[in-house]
Amino acid sequence: MIPFVHEIDPAYGRAVGLTPLVRRVTAENPGPFTYLGTGTYIVGRGQVAVIDPGPDLPAHLDALLHALKGETVAAILTTHTHSDHSPLSHALAERTGKPPVYGRIDPMVGSSEAASDTAFRPDIEVADGQRVAGRGWTLEAVATPGHASNHVCYALLEENLLFSGDHVMGWSTTVVSPPDGDMSDYYASLAKVEARDFSMLIPTHGPPVTAVRPFLAAYRTHRLDRERQILAELQAGPRRIIEMVPVMYAAVDPRLHPAAARSVLAHLIHLERSGLVVAVGETGPDSVFRLA
Ligand SMILES: [Zn+2]
Repeated sequence: MIPFVHEIDPAYGRAVGLTPLVRRVTAENPGPFTYLGTGTYIVGRGQVAVIDPGPDLPAHLDALLHALKGETVAAILTTHTHSDHSPLSHALAERTGKPPVYGRIDPMVGSSEAASDTAFRPDIEVADGQRVAGRGWTLEAVATPGHASNHVCYALLEENLLFSGDHVMGWSTTVVSPPDGDMSDYYASLAKVEARDFSMLIPTHGPPVTAVRPFLAAYRTHRLDRERQILAELQAGPRRIIEMVPVMYAAVDPRLHPAAARSVLAHLIHLERSGLVVAVGETGPDSVFRLA
């Protein structure tokens, strides 16, 4: 079992201190994928960085401006371009003296993917390992594709913690939805975070994870359990994803079953690459899969 962490009151619109260097302002956009809302993080005192400004909500922009009163924003950083993370970035930059916006362009540019901020253009395309520093803080980009191909976490070196975006969340597992989401990449990115031995993970949604090592181990085990469940289903005969999801996710809110189906597809693509599973015909959400 994953030792999930929960919270009751995110104190919408107010800056809440989490560590000596980190404050959070939560946007009021709760939902099945955003938990109680998007947590926007302010790093430092006086001269600060802002991570994941969040959705384009006027009340959230006002709350951030209020929390930042009297401070200089040196940098705005985004973990990825899903529409609950990056849309407010440039509006916030406009109102705070135009600090550079870091991030990566959306890979779905040109499509009409509603969940993606395809209009987002970073001022600085952030590279793995790149450092952004201010007075008393140093953030290091940790490229973590999987949930989204352009996902980047940020390590706060002074406090040995990681802003983990949607890569690792305390309240839930994360959705890996092909083609932009990739389970093979996701496993590699989990291992990359495990290797750093952070003392805290601060996800965009929900409270921090402090028991990092056991949490990440349980997170990985959970994925491997899902793989075993898929292989067990296919042991009984060829199956389509729509037949497997209600069995595998019987304990999960049915509203999340469509997202679960995307994660099962991501697992199947990974298992196919590993030589354990084959699709009958083309690999896709409606394909019949069987053991290799
Ligand atoms: Zn996301």
